[in-house]
Amino acid sequence: MTIIDIINKKKLGGELNEAELRFFAGAAAHPDSGLADSAQLAALLMAIRLKGMTDAETACLTLAMRDTGDVADLSRIPGVKVDKHSTGGVGDTTTLILAPLTAACGAPVAKMSGRGLGHTGGTLDKLESIPGLSVEKSEEDFVAQVLRCGVAVIGQTGTLAPADKTLYALRDVTGTVDSLPLIVSSIMSKKLASGADAIVLDVKTGSGAIMHTVEESAVLARKMVDIGRLSGRKVTALVTDMSQPLGTHVGNALEVKDAIDVLSGRTKGDLLEVSLALGSEMLVLAGLAKDTSAARVMLQAKLDSGEGLEKLRQLIAAQGGDPAVCDDVSLLPQPKLIRRITVGRAGWIGAMDTTALGSAAQRMGAGRLHRSDVIDPSVGFILPVRIGDRVEADTVLAELWAKDEASADEAGAAIRAAVTLSDTPTARPTLIHRRYGCEED
Ligand code: URA
Repeated sequence: MTIIDIINKKKLGGELNEAELRFFAGAAAHPDSGLADSAQLAALLMAIRLKGMTDAETACLTLAMRDTGDVADLSRIPGVKVDKHSTGGVGDTTTLILAPLTAACGAPVAKMSGRGLGHTGGTLDKLESIPGLSVEKSEEDFVAQVLRCGVAVIGQTGTLAPADKTLYALRDVTGTVDSLPLIVSSIMSKKLASGADAIVLDVKTGSGAIMHTVEESAVLARKMVDIGRLSGRKVTALVTDMSQPLGTHVGNALEVKDAIDVLSGRTKGDLLEVSLALGSEMLVLAGLAKDTSAARVMLQAKLDSGEGLEKLRQLIAAQGGDPAVCDDVSLLPQPKLIRRITVGRAGWIGAMDTTALGSAAQRMGAGRLHRSDVIDPSVGFILPVRIGDRVEADTVLAELWAKDEASADEAGAAIRAAVTLSDTPTARPTLIHRRYGCEED
């Protein structure tokens, strides 16, 4: 078998068998093996993008990609280990809220998170904005931390699904990111390798998400739940709104501040709501609550008592960070300048180009434009307005946390362009569009 045979078969719409899919995954995981060069891998990716894959092919590719690397062993941690994964969003800081809250409820949280990708932020970059905090640990120290304090959030240990690393980088530059089977196999191969018994998926939908419509996002959610079930994991997926940033803060230290404000009870709103919804699903899958209503009561109690915030303090201290940031957010990195811009005319906030908002933060230095870029943890913006809000000319549209005047000018212009004002009232977006649970059939 050669990679050319496989490309030709898929090009004509054929169904690839297990041997062919394992060849493809192996070739991607070992780019120097001579099995396929990157032009051939890219050609096959495009054939898959154009001809699609059956559910059986998608499941088979997912497992083949998972098997190209290590599978984390969390068996020393008692209880059901539940992971959570977001398909990527802006101001999407739910992990920093639900990890401590669910851990405070008794769920062991052993979480391997990712870095920012394109216009979307990453939990590791956010955590690293806390002075002293490290996200690197050996698997042994990671497990020990979960056993000791109930929660750890780190970068991946070992090599999880290395095939995805090659394929994702190629997809990014060949117009093949928006392929359902490729998204499903990319996300689920990594999740299955991360060792959790159960997984809650937050599938974003809207202008800041990979899938812009609820229907497309629902298909993605359904397929990932099905693959999880086929692999013996319990998976629940929520399709949640990303037609505007989830929290009001966008940027690394800013999102840590947002999470601390939520856990302190100072901030309510969509970020808290989605965190509670996802956290409730986690507690149900962990077997700690009989249903999501009971789980929500448990989470709310931990929020109200301050035990959630205390768990975040413990997590930060266990990973070498300064837990005092939980009591004084001014200890987080501060920007060189803060500038407020106003809306400019009266009306209603009608729509947001959330990808453009994420890209604005990325260009300020909150994300990477090139792989080698170093993140500036202090920059980003606060966007206090929400779709549906009535605004006046002098309403604050954004508070820019910038490294210099030029960066503030550019971000201000980008944010103005990304937020559409309407002359008529606009409906507030639905926050949670769909739910797919493993108990459904
Ligand atoms: N996140 C991933 O890890 N992979 C994708 O394909 C899309 C989002």
